[in-house]
Amino acid sequence: MRPASVTTRDQAAALDAADPLAPLRDLFELPPGVIYLDGNSLGALPRATAARVREVVEQEWGQGLIRSWNSVGWMTLASRIGDKIARLVGAAPGELVVTDSTSVNVFKVLSAALTMARVAAGPGADRRVIVSERSNFPTDLYIAESLARERGFELRLLDAPDLASALDARTAVLMLTHVNYRNGVMHDMAALSRAAHDAGALVIWDLAHSAGAVPVDLHRDGADFAVGCGYKYLNGGPGAPAFVWVHPKHVGRFQQPLSGWIGHAAPFEFTPGYRPAAGISRYLCGTPAVISMAALECGVDTLLAAQQHGGMAALRAKSLALSHLFAARVEALCPALTLASPRDDAGRGSQVCFSHATHAYAIMQALIARGVIGDFRAGDPAHPPDAADILRFGFTPLYLRFVDAWDAAGHVHQVLAAEEWRRPEFNRRHAVT
Ligand SMILES: *Cc1c(COP(=O)(O)O)cnc(C)c1O
Repeated sequence: MRPASVTTRDQAAALDAADPLAPLRDLFELPPGVIYLDGNSLGALPRATAARVREVVEQEWGQGLIRSWNSVGWMTLASRIGDKIARLVGAAPGELVVTDSTSVNVFKVLSAALTMARVAAGPGADRRVIVSERSNFPTDLYIAESLARERGFELRLLDAPDLASALDARTAVLMLTHVNYRNGVMHDMAALSRAAHDAGALVIWDLAHSAGAVPVDLHRDGADFAVGCGYKYLNGGPGAPAFVWVHPKHVGRFQQPLSGWIGHAAPFEFTPGYRPAAGISRYLCGTPAVISMAALECGVDTLLAAQQHGGMAALRAKSLALSHLFAARVEALCPALTLASPRDDAGRGSQVCFSHATHAYAIMQALIARGVIGDFRAGDPAHPPDAADILRFGFTPLYLRFVDAWDAAGHVHQVLAAEEWRRPEFNRRHAVT
């Protein structure tokens, strides 16, 4: 049975019964009656997290007090969890650390890359363009905009099809998000990294919607720098620390600009001059958020638990199968909705999006009232490719079942068929959409 050709709920249930990843759902504490299709925005709560956070608070902090920095390894959390995430993104141990937010890490790596590009180009060279995608996540673009202004670079924003051809001898850095947060479009990391290198530029990949969602191989695919998010597919909890990776051939050559004491070669010598730590630890800045890190580690462990069942390749296969089942049934039942994410698997991450001409927001509110939690992203009327308002549905194969995908599509159909979205309470905008 191929998921797209499932025609009864029993067939969906049969796919669950045959699914080797099905037991992983038990690693999560999911509220009853909810079909959670927003793990791309805030991952679900792992069962282990509450007890682990309690242990950190009551034992490690409460009883251990300051001794815990040494006795239970608080000081090495950034690299210990970093090594676990490295396994999910094709990096080696010692190359990746958990620290700060994605926004702050974008600042650090972009600044370091601009310095590298300028030094490599030599004095008088005209390599001063940062290329990114117009529909990149706003924080990445805001950070790039302010760095470009401060450092005398130009930020050029293009649509995805025009990126490769825009790279030339003036390009310093290509900075992209691997999977687009809005429509799920996934770039070809290898091809674009190669195009950047052919133009003599460096490439930065934001893995916010990739790490833990799709197989990523930073070394194979030629990345120079990468950052990613802890609270989406890594299930680290709201505001979880983010991560940063720098290719080992670059990491020791330049400093990042936020030279805080935790990124110093010897923080506890308290010397007045800054000496960067060896390797990726120089991308640390201040004291690690220990309690948040403990929660993040529980989230990352849920992904590592899938390693015995085929790891990211198996998770990806299930994510595609869930997406096919859902998309096929929504398209069959709901002619008012238009698929807004790519049909081609190779060009799509782990989310499926639909647009609705007029009432996408209210439709999502009606779905949430039914316990089907996705989210809404407003269109950009000034930019035709992104003009439509969209409904986003994230597929997180660690805890979603085929019957969930089947039932969710049924709810979408019912909301539309009965025009439930017309109710006034579904038409009031909340701050977080
Ligand atoms: C979610 C996301 C972020 C989030 O950045 P924060 O600093 O955690 O707020 C950044 N970039 C992309 C591409 C994202 O999807």
